[in-house]
This record gives sequence, C-alpha cells and structure tokens, in this order.
Amino acid sequence: MLTSHDLREPLRSISGFITLISKQCEAIDMPEENRKQVHEYFDYVHKGVMQMEELIGDIKEYSAINVLEKNFSKVSMGDLFHQVKDTLDAEITKWHATINIQSKLPVVNGDKTLLYSLTQNLIANAIKYHRPGVPPVIDVTYAHTDKGHVFAIRDNGIGVAEEYRDRIFLAFKRLHGKQGPYGGTGLGLAICKKTVEIHGGDIWLESTEGEGSTFYFSLKDE
Ligand code: ADP
Repeated sequence: MLTSHDLREPLRSISGFITLISKQCEAIDMPEENRKQVHEYFDYVHKGVMQMEELIGDIKEYSAINVLEKNFSKVSMGDLFHQVKDTLDAEITKWHATINIQSKLPVVNGDKTLLYSLTQNLIANAIKYHRPGVPPVIDVTYAHTDKGHVFAIRDNGIGVAEEYRDRIFLAFKRLHGKQGPYGGTGLGLAICKKTVEIHGGDIWLESTEGEGSTFYFSLKDE
C-alpha cells in the first residue's frame, strides 16, 4: 500500500537536490539580472514542494476518516472551541481577529480529535477569508433545535456566492485559484463534511457576498 511517507520521499529528494543545485549556481558567473531570476525559479520549486506536502497531509487526513475507529466519548464543546482559539493565537494576532465564544456550550457525544479538526478548520477559514483591511470578527453560538445540537460560526469576511454554496463542501473545490491570495488545498470543508456525517449531523452555510458567512454544523443529540 502506498503510504504518505512514500509520497513525501520524492519531495524530500527534490527539495534536497534543488538546494544543492542552487548552491552550485552561486559559483557560476552570471549577470545579476539572471541570478535574480534563478533565485525566483528556486523559490517557485520550494513553494511547489511545500504545497504538495500540505496536500499529502490533507489527503491523509481525509482518507483516514473512512477507516478510523470511531472513538466516541463526552466532549465539552466549550473547552474545544477555547483550545482551538489558543492554537490559532498567531493567526488571531496577525489579523487582529476577535473571536467571541458563547459561554454555555454543551457536552456532546463524539470523536474529540475529529471535532477538534472540524472546529479548527471552520474558525481558521473564518479568519483566512476576511475582507481586505477589515479585521475578522467571529461569533460562535449554539442552539438546540430539531436537528440536535446546532453550532454556528459567523464571520464578517468575503462571503460565498450563492452558486458555490454546495460545491465548496466537495473535495478540491476552491473558489480562489492557486495564484490568488489564499493558500490551501480545498480539502478542509470536505473533511468537515465527512466528520459531521460520521456524527449523524450535517453542515451548511448562509452567506451574503461581501458581508460574511455563517457556517452551521449539527451533531446528533444522544
Ligand atoms: P481551502 O481553504 O483549502 O481552499 P476549504 O475546503 O476549507 O479549502 O474551503 C473551500 C473554499 O470555500 C475556499 O477555497 C473558499 O473559497 C471557501 N470558503 C471556506 N470558508 C469560507 C469563509 N469562511 N468565507 C468565505 N469563503 C470561504
């Protein structure tokens, strides 16, 4: 079976040899203009390698969900959201983000690792897809409805156009090309969808383009 280690091995060798080649190039006499260009090309190769590494990691996470032994226990969603907030501290500081977490969040029955990754993905996206020059303000709220536990993550970011609202949950569907300002593999929301389905729930969104989005997910109430 092909493992993520097998996939990473050739990348490591590309990375290693490109570093060696770039060192050899230093010794070659060439006009400054060309040297600059060569550096730029090496940077592209390194960025490509890093993107591929990220993709392999996400594919591994996405495919592992199918075979993962479900490890259900009582999970405090309040603690989980606060842990995620701490983990994202660097991004929060960088973008001057505010994250408000409703005080009384329930304890649910679920897989803690998967739920952590779900909440982290949604909050990280809410920070990442902010409007240029507008600091992200994110509200995490909760309601108990006929769908069970329903959590909402509201942002004041760029929003998602109506025609894309279903597609973004499919693997590799990204609304911004690779050359756009946002990095990513396009697997995050597909992982989120699989996670909520494992928990007998659903994920959906409401959004106004240019004003923000609210991502909802439900978890079965047992
Ligand atoms: P990635 O962020 O790696 O591109 P995701 O699966 O997490 O992949 O998201 C898919 C697409 O959905 C993103 O490319 C982006 O266009 C859109 N998206 C996700 N979250 C938000 C958000 N909070 N606000 C606006 N657009 C979003």
